[in-house]
Amino acid sequence: MFRIGAHVSISGGVQQAVEREREVGGNCGQIFVGSPRGWAVSEVDEDEAAAFVEGSTDRDVGPWIVHGTYLVNLATPKDDLAAKSIDAVQAELEAAAALDIPYYVFHPGSHTGAGEETGIENVGERLSQLEIPDGVTLLLENTAGKGTTVGTNFADLDRMVAVSEHDYDDLGVCLDTCHLYAAGYDFTTETGMDDMIAELEETVGVENVQYLHLNDSKHPLGSEKDEHEHLGEGEIGAAGLRRFINHEALRDNPMVVETPEDGEKGYAWNVERARELREDD
Ligand SMILES: [Zn+2]
Ligand SMILES: [Zn+2]
Repeated sequence: MFRIGAHVSISGGVQQAVEREREVGGNCGQIFVGSPRGWAVSEVDEDEAAAFVEGSTDRDVGPWIVHGTYLVNLATPKDDLAAKSIDAVQAELEAAAALDIPYYVFHPGSHTGAGEETGIENVGERLSQLEIPDGVTLLLENTAGKGTTVGTNFADLDRMVAVSEHDYDDLGVCLDTCHLYAAGYDFTTETGMDDMIAELEETVGVENVQYLHLNDSKHPLGSEKDEHEHLGEGEIGAAGLRRFINHEALRDNPMVVETPEDGEKGYAWNVERARELREDD
């Protein structure tokens, strides 16, 4: 079954996310478990967690994914920032486990001048310091490549996993269409798509891609700019997204939109758009 949803808020209690997801037409979804631009991770209330798990089962919403705070930077050369980041990721992983959420995704970070290779090794070494709870897979998200961010290509993500003491049982990859396109992967053409999948097979392995972020891009191919657009209204366009959503190597993954929310065009509009682009199973 096509699993498509949106990033939804947990305000008023995490159990509220289930109904919010249904309201936008989603049957899987993504949440933050703390402030997206702060370090605080909310304490998971047991009753709310139970209501969330029960509601998700009753309303057939899942699999869920927790998105890590944007402040996390495991690539950094600064020890204090690294320590804070490791603590935040650990707390978020535990929140995911407490909510029976099988996936957690975060952006690997920026090397801020230390060099790309050092940044990649930093991520790998710091991943080793995490205790990944049973039942949770930690996903590395590919990045658009702005500034000194690491993780713009599959080989680099694969290196992070190789450096770490964890393997692909505990780790995986989440691909974001906007970031892929901004980083120069042109999957909008048949050859471009084939090349991208071949590169994926030679590095991470398609089986280790476990979740997808579906976003159009405001900026052109290779721009390295991370700005999401409504599905079909950006530089990737409807045909390019259709190719991605339906590709046999990717189509079985759950997908969430992280598109802008303005007026008429919110998450419901984009989830509906994704369903229109989906070809029958
Ligand atoms: Zn994303
Ligand atoms: Zn993005």
